[in-house]
Amino acid sequence: MTIYNLGSINRDLIYQMQRLPQAGETIAAQEFIEMLGGKGLNQSVAATRAGADLVHIGAIGKDDRDMRERLQNLGLDTSAIAGVDHPTGHAIVSVDEAGENAIVLLQGANVQQDQDMIKQSLKNIKDSDFLMLQNETNYQLLAAQIAYDVGATVVYSAAPFSATAVEAVLPFVDILVVNTVERQQLSDALGIGEFDLPVSTAIITKGAEGADWIDIKSKVSKATPAMNAEVVDTTGAGDTFIGYVVSGLAEGLPPDEAMRLGSVAAAIMVSRKGTASAIPTRAEVDARL
Ligand code: ATP
Repeated sequence: MTIYNLGSINRDLIYQMQRLPQAGETIAAQEFIEMLGGKGLNQSVAATRAGADLVHIGAIGKDDRDMRERLQNLGLDTSAIAGVDHPTGHAIVSVDEAGENAIVLLQGANVQQDQDMIKQSLKNIKDSDFLMLQNETNYQLLAAQIAYDVGATVVYSAAPFSATAVEAVLPFVDILVVNTVERQQLSDALGIGEFDLPVSTAIITKGAEGADWIDIKSKVSKATPAMNAEVVDTTGAGDTFIGYVVSGLAEGLPPDEAMRLGSVAAAIMVSRKGTASAIPTRAEVDARL
């Protein structure tokens, strides 16, 4: 079974400074860290580290050899990652002493996906496969339709939330994933509760309160508690969780076991600093299970 993931790839360029600059002002940064991220990349790394056979479909700048190499070092197959005439997506993150931040985001290549690469990469997708999607690329609808038409399981994280994107993609989704904020935005946008969604399953992640697996048809909701964790940085918790859950489902685990796998992986993730490279391996997760 293969998991396909049409997802973003970002560099986070993080500058630590005493205070954030005002308009027209130049401030010297005291520290610089570069991290790889993007919801798509994080979910792909999580599913790969969980042990899945994963194909990441995405786009980076055509001359960005450094990024391709780093993705390969993370264990990703980069053959379905197009090199396009736009810069690789990146975020410039300024952080002051109080932890307040100001972020400039260039979506760049993430929203300039190569349509032919998407079609080509999905040409062998079959009903036992999975497709993961989020809202940080273009062409989600195209990919969702291709996967849904062959009966593959389409897993859609409606994040960052966009009412237009959700309404377009939802008819081709099997499993919808939202956190509590997105759940509220969804019900405000569609005017319906989760039991009325046109999908078979909704997964609601609730931070330290765990996550719910909601079977829409039977209207049964099953809760998976969060594991105890000493929280250092919650960035990427949701992506780690869902990457592990989908990998568990692709392995054939029942939903509650797949959710438990995600919950343990996410608890390890929140106890560490960093994004893609901090995502735990399956051996680390199994040791905690
Ligand atoms: P993010 O945007 O930070 O990646 P998210 O909002 O998409 O996260 P959350 O609902 O915050 O997702 O968290 C996803 C899962 O991670 C939770 O369902 C839970 O299993 C785990 N998790 C999150 N916060 C904690 C915590 N403080 N302690 C233990 N587990 C946590």
